[in-house]
Order: sequence, then C-alpha cells, then structure tokens
Amino acid sequence: MARERRTVNQSDVDELRRLLSGTQAHVLTSSDPGYGASIERWSLAAVKPAGVSILPSSSEEVAIAIKYASSHYLDVAVKGGGHSTAGASSSDGGLLIDLGRMRKVEVDVEKQQLHVQGGCIWADVDEAAWQHKLATVGGTVADTGVGGLTLGGGYGHLSGSRGLVIDNTISITTVTADGTIVRASKTENTDLFWALNGAGQNFGVTTEFVLRAYRQEEVYAGTLVFPPSPDVISKLVTIVNDLYYVPGEGTPTKTKGQLNSLLAIGRPPDAGGQTVTLFIFAFDGNETQAKKLLQPIYTLGPLVDMTSMKSYPEVNKQIPTAPGFRSSMKGAAFVLPIREEFVHTLLSKYNTFLDSQPDAQGSLLAWELYDPTIVVASDEGCFANRGYHLNSLIMPLWSKAENDKECRQFARDLSLEFKHELERKGERTGDGVEGGASVRGKKNAVLLYGNYDQYDEKSRDIFGDNYPRLQEIKARYDPDNMFDKLFAIQPSGAGTNGA
Ligand SMILES: Cc1cc2nc3c(=O)[nH]c(=O)nc-3n(C[C@H](O)[C@H](O)[C@H](O)COP(=O)(O)OP(=O)(O)OC[C@H]3O[C@@H](n4cnc5c(N)ncnc54)[C@H](O)[C@@H]3O)c2cc1C
Repeated sequence: MARERRTVNQSDVDELRRLLSGTQAHVLTSSDPGYGASIERWSLAAVKPAGVSILPSSSEEVAIAIKYASSHYLDVAVKGGGHSTAGASSSDGGLLIDLGRMRKVEVDVEKQQLHVQGGCIWADVDEAAWQHKLATVGGTVADTGVGGLTLGGGYGHLSGSRGLVIDNTISITTVTADGTIVRASKTENTDLFWALNGAGQNFGVTTEFVLRAYRQEEVYAGTLVFPPSPDVISKLVTIVNDLYYVPGEGTPTKTKGQLNSLLAIGRPPDAGGQTVTLFIFAFDGNETQAKKLLQPIYTLGPLVDMTSMKSYPEVNKQIPTAPGFRSSMKGAAFVLPIREEFVHTLLSKYNTFLDSQPDAQGSLLAWELYDPTIVVASDEGCFANRGYHLNSLIMPLWSKAENDKECRQFARDLSLEFKHELERKGERTGDGVEGGASVRGKKNAVLLYGNYDQYDEKSRDIFGDNYPRLQEIKARYDPDNMFDKLFAIQPSGAGTNGA
C-alpha cells in the first residue's frame, strides 16, 4: 500500500521559507497577496486551496521545494498553464509549485530552436518565435500551458504537417522527485526523455523545453458560421469526409497536411442564443490556395465569414477562451466517414440540454479534423494514442456549482454517444470506467487523447503496451509516486492500485 501523502502545516511553511530565503522564490499562504491568483485555474471547478504555494524563478528553487516535499511526504501539485479541468494541477492543502513566474522564451534563430521555460503559455512561445518568422506545433488556444499540453502529447494547427508537440521536443529539463535537475534528450537520459514525451506529468517538474521551430508564413484562417439546418450539415459532412479521407496507410489526405479544422456546434454570444454550425480552420498557405481547396464550403454561403490571412500567433487566438467559467473537458474519438445522422443526433441532444439548462449556454461540441499521416508515421515518446482516428471535444461551460453534476453528466452522455457510434461501425472500443470512447490501437491503448479526457480513463488504457516500461522508469525517478495527479503510474514493484 502506498503511504498517504500529507497536507502542509505551519512548520512546513516556516521551514520552506527558511530554505528558500535569499532566493527569488515566492512562498505564499492564504493570507499573502498573490496566493489567490496562484490557485486560480482556467475552470473555476478546478480551484483547490493549496496549503502553500511556491512560485520559483529557477530549476534550483524548484529543487529545494521538491526535495523538502519528498522527504516530508507532502502532497504536491504542479501548475503550468492551469488548463486541466480535472484539477490535476491543484492540491487540497498540499504544496503547489506554480510555474507562473517561469515564462521566458529564448529563440536560437540559427538553430531554429526555442528554449521555453516550464511555466510558459503558448502565446509566449508563438509571439517570441514569430518575431523571427518561426513557429512550432503548439496549442490552438494561446492561453493554454506549454507544460501540460506538451507532456501529454500536444496537438496544434501544424500537426498535419509537423506532428505532435512531442515530435518536436529536442530536450526537456526536469526536477525529479529527489530534487535532482535532469536534462533528457535523445542522447542523455534517454529513458526519461521517452517517458516525459507523453506521460511527463508523472516524472517531475519540467522547467525547460527545447522545441524545434520552422520557418512560418502567415496562414489563411478564421471561422465560417452556418445555420444548423439539415441541408447545410449534410453538405458540410460530405465535404469534410472527402477532404480528410485517408486513401491508404501513409497516404496523405486531400488537405496534404495543410488544413486543420473544427466542425463545431455552439451558441456564440453574437448569435443571440441561437445554435449555429461553425467551421473553424487554419490553412497553412495563402488565400487563393485555401479558397481553392475549400471552395465547396464557401459555396454553401456562410452567414458570417471571418476568414483572412493571419499571423501564426493570431491564429491561435481565434478561438475565444472563456476563463471564469466552470468546465469539464471530455474527449472522445471518431473515425471517418462522419455519418450525417450522427451529427443530427448530437445536435438534437445539444439543443435539448442547452434549452433546459440556461447556465450552460457557452458549451461547445466539436469534431477536430486534421491529416493524421505524419502523426501516425512518428513513434516518438511513450504517447500510445497515435492512429487514424480523430479527436472530438465536448466542452460544457457553466457558472454555478449546483449545476456541476448535471453538466458533467451531459459531457459523459455525449462521449458515450461517440463510443456507441464507433461500435456501430464495428470498431473495438476501450473499456475504461465510463470511458473508452475510442478505438484500440496498435499499442493496445485506447486511442483517446488523455489531455482531453482526464477523468474516466485508466492509465493502462492510455499508455497501453508502454505501461510496464513506464512503471520501470517511474521506479527509478519517482519511486514514492510524488507526481500522481494525472494518469498516475504505479512504480514497478509497488502494486497496481490506481492503474
Ligand atoms: C481551452 C482549452 C484549449 C485546449 N486546446 C488544446 C490544443 O489545442 N491542443 C492540445 O493538445 N490540448 C489542448 N487542450 C488540452 C490541454 O492539453 C490540457 O488541458 C493540458 O492539461 C493543459 O496544460 P496546462 O499546463 O495548461 O494545465 P495545468 O492544469 O497547469 O497542468 C495539467 C497537468 O500537467 C502538469 N504540468 C503542467 N505543467 C507542468 C510542468 N512544467 N512540469 C510538470 N508537470 C506539469 C500538471 O501538474 C497537471 O498534471 C486544451 C484545453 C483547454 C481547456
């Protein structure tokens, strides 16, 4: 049985203040200014009152705090961008490492590499790189954290041409559970590097990522708004099925990796409470090329056309973020072709729920579309969820805690619809608790993106055949399982609880 980690008491706070005195680190408790901001999360439902919050400015300061937490068996949480809606970066009474003061990005223009501190959000990276007309694969919503998104895999607008974020990590520097600062890459600490790229939140506090960057021109991007009429939905579904059809393993789609898009259902504030169908895209090319490929969609006559040439940082700001709400992100997967009737079923369920729940009007449902050829061809890191499936996203947004249960259930119900749809198509789905809304892949993992579904899936399902090797690496770097907040890995020899 793993020993239970304990919460922080006054003597821990005093000792941490003493150990960190003379450094730049901030040590905050609930009576200190800045503490409130430190425990804030993108979803209000993920806020928890840490016993102490440490805001370091360097790896060395992280190491002092982690060494103390390790020897005193404290509960530890690590906050990157704070976007986990499942509370994976929060601790109730424990020690929080808030990396919010470590947001520097250095650009090595000659080598086309980005040195990114562990607390950066994607806007920091996008903007620093763009000054040199460079870009890397990063989150499509710029205020999401580099930390959690990268350590769990990472999809972005360039994934069709450049792969996942972890296909572009050159090195990762992490403070492991004993307080050692370790640099991992393809040539140093290679096992740890493999584990960090896909299950990284389990192995330490990452203080720096070095990411590969590429020359990047402006892209044609934006949102097209359509009515949710059966005719338009039918045509949109036919068009995206054609655009993203994979002719055979390894053969690119008609989009040739250049078009990343979302087919979404939402009630944006500008639509005056009406449900609309949205096609949100980023095309890595110019307007003429984009309009040629997307001509069938433009011909449908969008109600609103917000597409134009945009800089890469702007593209990642086009999906408005909605901090200040409660949310629970729920993932699922689908395989092409999307069945028109399936979209109608989900649209109807979406409308029924939102009509009955005025608190949840900002909720979104999306089918994410990209060319998976490059992602499938790579085998970097321990990410076991590569495949020709595509991700869908169910994002309920609401304000009142009394609606938590109902809104979360709505997300689960829709995710289950995706699972049934896969089964209808004869696919073998996963069997996680209330989860498994995806197909099984080559590595015997559920092809569900763990960062989209941090609630119901099991670690063994997410990591598949890679799980035993992860257990061995965990036993070396975190034998007492300090980093256990998200898809926890039991160190080998420590039993199988929680897996
Ligand atoms: C609005 C929104 C948009 C999103 N868009 C995308 C997208 O385009 N692509 C995509 O792939 N995913 C996307 N996601 C999912 C996203 O990858 C996860 O929510 C991810 O957990 C966010 O990371 P974070 O650092 O912001 O979160 P946090 O809540 O800070 O952290 C999440 C987990 O990562 C750990 N962690 C974070 N930083 C570090 C670090 N430096 N060292 C060690 N552990 C760390 C935390 O301890 C926690 O376990 C989106 C989520 C939201 C809410």
